[in-house]
Amino acid sequence: MDAIQAIVLYPSPPIGHLVSMVELGKLILTHHPSLSIHIILATPPYRADDTAPYIASVSATTSSIIFHRLPTVSLPPSITSGTRNHETLTFEVLRLNNPHVHQALLSISNSFTVQAFIMDFFCGLGLSVATDLNIPGYFYLTSGAGFLASFLYLPTIHKNTDKSLKDLDTLICIPGVPPVHSLDMPKPFLERNDKAYECFLDNSTHSTRSAGIIINTFESLEPRTIRALSDGLCLPDDITMPPIYCIGPLIISQRGGGRADVPECLTWLDSQPSGSVVFLCFGSLGLFTKEQLEEIAVGLERSGQRFLWVVRNPPSHNQSVAIAGQVDPDLDYLLPDGFLDRTKDRGLVVKSWAPQVEVLNHDSVGGFVCHCGWNSILEAVCAGVPMLAWPLYAEQRLNRVVLVEEIKIALPVNESKSGFVSANEVENRVRELMNSEEGESIRKKIEVLRSEANAAVSEGGTSNVALVKLVESWNQGMV
Ligand code: UDP
Repeated sequence: MDAIQAIVLYPSPPIGHLVSMVELGKLILTHHPSLSIHIILATPPYRADDTAPYIASVSATTSSIIFHRLPTVSLPPSITSGTRNHETLTFEVLRLNNPHVHQALLSISNSFTVQAFIMDFFCGLGLSVATDLNIPGYFYLTSGAGFLASFLYLPTIHKNTDKSLKDLDTLICIPGVPPVHSLDMPKPFLERNDKAYECFLDNSTHSTRSAGIIINTFESLEPRTIRALSDGLCLPDDITMPPIYCIGPLIISQRGGGRADVPECLTWLDSQPSGSVVFLCFGSLGLFTKEQLEEIAVGLERSGQRFLWVVRNPPSHNQSVAIAGQVDPDLDYLLPDGFLDRTKDRGLVVKSWAPQVEVLNHDSVGGFVCHCGWNSILEAVCAGVPMLAWPLYAEQRLNRVVLVEEIKIALPVNESKSGFVSANEVENRVRELMNSEEGESIRKKIEVLRSEANAAVSEGGTSNVALVKLVESWNQGMV
């Protein structure tokens, strides 16, 4: 009897990457229900949000998805004590895990015919494991085509200068992307002596040797960029572009494992007028200092707009993102005196976490102050909610350029050199988003894209067809 066919997925540990990859697995199953989907989990070097409830809910509801937890690796003290950024920690964990990935793939291959190994773009070292085992390896980009263009263009930038991007004051012209200031490039690309830079450079090269690159975007969202990518314009001349599959927007349908009751913020939204509320939420890792939180509060209060704001504790020590478990914030201490009381009729502050997808899809929400994480962007597009782009980390400054200048579905939030945003800027931008011609124009654009997103994933839509092609390539054993 023929062995059951399987696809193995290898996500990077942070929750945004994990969820996006699992949703890809679910999507593949809708096209090919007889497949067995195996997800290899490396244990994250930090806990920004507990992934356990999500994994448990997927395991309970989708029996064709099987999780394989890799053994915990111990990081050398030089890495745990000396590392400044979570990208380097993640790459180190993934590097140490590569022998375990080999074992896991071997053991899955004993019972299944593995048709494809799909790895997150952080997990590029896995490609050699797949190649050794004669399994076609694919890359999955949890960000958009704009980021893929910059990722593939990194070796060209590296060759053309011996300076770090952080030391250049210049515009980088990536084919298919508006000119990007060097400091707006993805954070780990800025310092060429950094370990994470080196890993991204290697992974960029690995990805071009893969059987294909899957992106969580759709053609009418980033048409010019996707064309430049497909034409191989982002690669050095001697490298051929592998096929790209734009299969998005892939967003989480239900996080699961949460509270059974309706969260207070959704009940509160029920009592607000249609399209009147600005939602402020900064991803799974975004943190602000107490000074910045106070400035946002003052700006929001002066704007006179209704708001729903997710507030977290400020970073401890010199961390700029949440890389440890979070304790709920003390709002009375963090926010200006009397702020909560003065705004109680038109604002709600939520501690640490809100059900973002449900919030964005609530009729009362009319604007989103967003940290420009790609999942959040796609969730806003699918809900038709225009954004204020306030990037914090990773590739988010590049995403701001793409959102504001290319797709035109966000207005920029401008920060000082040190990254501080004034109360004035918050006040003016929030007003502009909710009450101006510019705000209206991006609202119209995102409403059009919302229906185009729906069309893309419907039968015969571009993303649907791309997925069919991807699955067919496995059936035909094409690599
Ligand atoms: N999210 C949420 N509630 C929060 C903060 C984040 O549901 O209070 C979800 C959000 O809907 C998105 C994910 O967490 O699906 C964040 O992913 P994204 O790519 O936007 O940013 P990252 O956290 O990776 O920076």
